[in-house]
Amino acid sequence: MKIDLEKCKGCGFCEEVCPLGVITIDDRKVVIHEGCVDCKSCMKVCPHDVLTPAPAEEGAKCMSCPIMCTIPEGSRGACMRYSNKGGEIIREGRLHTYEEIEGLLRTGHDDGSIGRPLITGIGSGTTYPDFRPSPFIVSGVRDGIDVVTVVTEAPLSYSGVKLKIDTDLYLGEESRKVYVRRKGKRHVGHLCTEEYGSKILSLGGVNILTSKDGMFAAKVLFEFLKGKEIKLEVENGSTLELTLGQPPKVNGKSEEHMRVGCGSAVSGLFAPYMAKAADEVIVLDGHITGLFSEHPSGKYLKKTRSAVTIKGRKSTDGRYFLDKGAGWGGTDVQEPLDVIKEIDAEKRVEGMTLLITETTGRKAVFYRMRDGRFMEEPLTEEASAFLETLRDSCEASRVSAVFAAGVGGSARAGVTKNPIKLTRAVHAGKVAISIGGAKPFIFPGGGINFLVDVEEIKQGSIYLSPTPSFVIPVEYTMSLETFKDIGGHIDAMRPVEEVVKSKGEKEQ
Ligand code: SF4
Ligand code: SF4
Repeated sequence: MKIDLEKCKGCGFCEEVCPLGVITIDDRKVVIHEGCVDCKSCMKVCPHDVLTPAPAEEGAKCMSCPIMCTIPEGSRGACMRYSNKGGEIIREGRLHTYEEIEGLLRTGHDDGSIGRPLITGIGSGTTYPDFRPSPFIVSGVRDGIDVVTVVTEAPLSYSGVKLKIDTDLYLGEESRKVYVRRKGKRHVGHLCTEEYGSKILSLGGVNILTSKDGMFAAKVLFEFLKGKEIKLEVENGSTLELTLGQPPKVNGKSEEHMRVGCGSAVSGLFAPYMAKAADEVIVLDGHITGLFSEHPSGKYLKKTRSAVTIKGRKSTDGRYFLDKGAGWGGTDVQEPLDVIKEIDAEKRVEGMTLLITETTGRKAVFYRMRDGRFMEEPLTEEASAFLETLRDSCEASRVSAVFAAGVGGSARAGVTKNPIKLTRAVHAGKVAISIGGAKPFIFPGGGINFLVDVEEIKQGSIYLSPTPSFVIPVEYTMSLETFKDIGGHIDAMRPVEEVVKSKGEKEQ
C-alpha cells in the first residue's frame, strides 16, 4: 500500500480493521509493517484517503476469493486460510471427516441414506471464480444407494447472527440501533424482538455489512463467533457484554437467571405456593404482570379478591400490560408499591399481606398493612418457600446464537450448473444441507436461507474474508441420481475413501 503521511490524522481506523495486525500508529502516523498482503481493508475504512494501492509487492497471488491477496513468502493471507510456502499457495488446515466432528453436534441427523454428509466441508477450500466445481465432490455408497456429498467453504457474503440474550432486564426500545464503540462508534446491528424470556439481537446482515461500518461490524461479529467477549451499546438503552454460551452482562452486571415465564405463567405454575405466600401476590413482568387474587389460578384456589388494583392495561382477569422500562421485571415500575393504582377502602383489611416479586424472584418485597398503609416486613416462611421454588425453576441465563445466511453464487455454482435445480431439490428434501456437519433450519420460500446453531460449528472453522464476508463450511448430500438430475459436476466426483485418505492436504 502507498501511504500519504501528510494526510494521515492518526485516527487508527486502519489499525482496527487490518486482519493481520501489521499496522501501528506511531507518533499519530500510520506505519505498515512486514506481512502486508495488499487486502485493502485499511484503504476502505480510511476517512482521509491516506492509503492507495501500490504495485504488488513480492509474493504469491491467492486466487481463492475476490480479495486476491499477494502473500509474502512464509505469511498467511488476510482470511488466514491460505499461506505462501516456497512460492506456492497452500491451504492451511485439512479436511475433516464427519465422524471427527459428530460428537460436537447437538442436533441429530435423519437416518436416511442422505441424512448425513459423507464428509464435512471443514477445511475444504473455496473455488473462485464461482463456476468451477467445488474442491471436493465425493461419492460413496450408503444403505446400498450411491450418495454424493459436495463440500465447500463458501464465502457467505451477506450473513449475520441472531443473538438470544436470556434476560428480563430492559435493553432498550425494539428496533433501536446497536453500536460498538472502539476508535469510533460503529453501527453493527439492531435490537429486534423480545421472545419468551429472551431479547433477540440481530448483528450484521446485508445492509450493515455493505455500509461504511461494514468492515468494523464484520470484525466484531467474527470476534463473537470465535468465542471472545464483545461490548455493545443499545441506542438510548443498556450496555451489553456478551460471550457465546456465557451469562450476559447488562449495564456491567452479570445476569444469573432467565425468567420462568410471564407474571401470568408464574401465577399458573406456582399457584399453590402463592396462595399461601400472602393475601395478594403481584408478579411484575414486562410482558404480563400478574395480580394473583384476580387471576384464574387464584380464583380456582378460592382466594379472596383483595382490595388492591394495579396500573397498566388489563388483558384478561389478573393479567396486565405495563409500560416497559428499566424498573422491576423489565417494567417502568421503579418502586414496587408504585404498581398499585388503588386500594379499595371498603375491602381494605388491617394486617393484610402483600408480596411483590419479579418473575425470576431476583427482587421481592413482603408488606403488611398497618394503619391503612403497606409497610415492609421480613419474608414469612411461606413467602420464602414460594420464592425459593420460583428461583429454582429458572434456567441459567446465557447468550446463544444462530448464524443466518443464504447460499449464493460461489456456494451453489460449485455444485451444479443449474443453481435453481439445486434450490428446488433442497426444498423438495432431495438434497440435505449441513454446515460443518451441523443440521441447519432451512427457511421456506425461495432461495437457500438457513439458520444454524453457532455452538455446533466447530471452533476455528469460520473465517472472515475482508470483502467482508464469513467463510463457512457447507455440505450438500444427495443420491447420485439427484446429483445427475440437478446438473451436478459429475466429472469432478471422486470416491470418498480417496479423499479421506489424502485428508485434502495441499489441495485448494
Ligand atoms: S492492505 Fe490489508 S494487510 Fe496490508 S496493511 Fe492494509 S489491512 Fe493490513
Ligand atoms: S482473503 Fe484469503 S482466500 Fe482471499 S485472496 Fe486473501 S488469502 Fe486468498
